[in-house]
Parts: sequence; structure tokens; C-alpha cells
Amino acid sequence: MYTLNKMEMKIMRPIDADELKITLTDWIRLHWDEAFTADDMAYAFLEMINEELTLKMKPVVHAHWVPQRPNNRTGKAYIFVCSNCKKFAIKSRQASIDEMGYVFCPYCGAEMDGG
Ligand SMILES: [Zn+2]
Repeated sequence: MYTLNKMEMKIMRPIDADELKITLTDWIRLHWDEAFTADDMAYAFLEMINEELTLKMKPVVHAHWVPQRPNNRTGKAYIFVCSNCKKFAIKSRQASIDEMGYVFCPYCGAEMDGG
């Protein structure tokens, strides 16, 4: 019986799940009437998974805006620094930094979700 070893189970590799669905269903359609054991099928499926292309993905960086020099009179900050790349963004008087639409840092691409 073919079993996964511990190393195979722990390595994470991003693949396209939709492409894999097509590959697997095509294989089943092509081989449905052949006599094969569960081990043969498990081996064939593992081979197909192993042969799926690895997606090139950048790791997600999480960051947040750090308020700088709050205004003496209002106590509000208008300049914010990205906690990841240290570059700054200036917000208007009316909007909060979240309302400015900075879901990502415009300089380093970090996701500004408080990380
Ligand atoms: Zn940044």
C-alpha cells in the first residue's frame, strides 16, 4: 500500500485546485473501465498532484499604519507610517486613514490589516 511519508505531508506547495480538478476528472473519464487497484489509483492521483505546476505566490505581508506627530490642538495625526516599509501616507483632515482606501500599502504592497 502506498502511504505518504511525514515529509510529503508537511511540505506546503501552492497549486491551482481548479486545474487539478480537470486533470483528475479527465483521468477518471479515461480510465473508468480499466481494472486497477486502489493502490494504483492512489499512486496515479499522487503523481498528478505532484506534477501540478507550483504557483508563484508572494508571501502576504501584514502591516498597519502608525500615526505620527499628532496635531497639538486636535490630538489627531495626519501623517501615518507603514509599519513594514516605514514610508508615509498623509490623510486628509476629513477622512480617517482607513477611509482613505489604503487596504494595501501603496509602496510595499503590505496588507494593512493590523499585522
Ligand atoms: Zn509599506
